[in-house]
Amino acid sequence: MRRGLQIGKILGIPILLDPSWLFIFSLLTYLLSEEFRLKYPNWSTSQHWVVGLLTSLFFFGSVLFHELFHSIIARHYKIRVVSITLFIFGGISRIGRDPAKPIQEFNIAVAGPIGNFLLAAVFLGIGQLSPADDKLAAFTTYLVWTNIVLGAANLAPGFPLDGGRMFHAIVWAATKDFNKATRAAGATGKVIAYALIAWGAWSALHDNVSGGIWCGLIGIYLLSAANESVRQLAVRETLRGLSAADVMSQEVPIVSGGISLEDYGAEVLRTGRRYHLVITDDRLVGLMNVHALHAVPREEWEHNSVQSVMIPRDKILWASQDEPLQRLLERLFAADIGQMPVVSGTPDDGAHVVGMVTRDAILRVIQARSEFRQPTPAK
Ligand SMILES: [Zn+2]
Repeated sequence: MRRGLQIGKILGIPILLDPSWLFIFSLLTYLLSEEFRLKYPNWSTSQHWVVGLLTSLFFFGSVLFHELFHSIIARHYKIRVVSITLFIFGGISRIGRDPAKPIQEFNIAVAGPIGNFLLAAVFLGIGQLSPADDKLAAFTTYLVWTNIVLGAANLAPGFPLDGGRMFHAIVWAATKDFNKATRAAGATGKVIAYALIAWGAWSALHDNVSGGIWCGLIGIYLLSAANESVRQLAVRETLRGLSAADVMSQEVPIVSGGISLEDYGAEVLRTGRRYHLVITDDRLVGLMNVHALHAVPREEWEHNSVQSVMIPRDKILWASQDEPLQRLLERLFAADIGQMPVVSGTPDDGAHVVGMVTRDAILRVIQARSEFRQPTPAK
């Protein structure tokens, strides 16, 4: 999920480019300059390419603007935006947690298409500045139309599109049933995806081969994304209402910082425990785990202490007892770590470690809960 080249930050949000984006960017630039070459034979070759390149850049700028509009509203609700990624089929914003209320979900979703409609108006206005300039007209006309199409297409009422999230929010608000809303938006998302695939196949067979294939590919992507959205929301839903204190293990294994990695390895093998708090002179100095152990070559275990390779205290991520499990799991995945100590009080002064939460423990809860719920009782 985190792959991609970071090209910068906007409003503090990392902007990532997926490798697949380079392909679509090159393709669009090429297609646009070809189109301009046919439409405006009086331009020079370099003018076809420059206007094509600028139009392509501003098109993906519009996609980014759409995602930023989602992000700004998400932040308004104190939801952290982890990153925005541009990839072959558009843009994706990753947010730190789900919206707490239907109205929040609705507003975050609707913001993206609104951003495109605003941009369409802006490009329309720019085009009026110098109506006789055919290069400006070619550039702005394309961007006005693509922004209208981007905004409108995203309003289709099925996951994973923005319209699907708005539809989800409406059903959620009307029925007060999050799961029912998820199933409904997932189902309409699949209908939209199948319709695109069918339309793509039909077009491909009726002499619009490239357009048809493209449409079909988008349909296939939407189909898998619809399934994925339903699965993710279902997983998060199983964690609703649970906090760190519910799944933490109260047993907190401890090792001394001075022991060698060889001895630490032996301790892991003897007890089966894969992580330990590290104590030196009665003070908590860090966190040690199997992952950090394996970062050191086996032949150097004898000559290194736990203290030299552990995660130092100031780098440890902490959880509080009442932290919602949904968010905690997101943080574990975002930082790519397996466990977090749970503290009562603030970590800075007199924090007291009361337990450990592991990714495995949370995944076990998800599994147990989803098995339990399988035959949904009739209401
Ligand atoms: Zn969107």
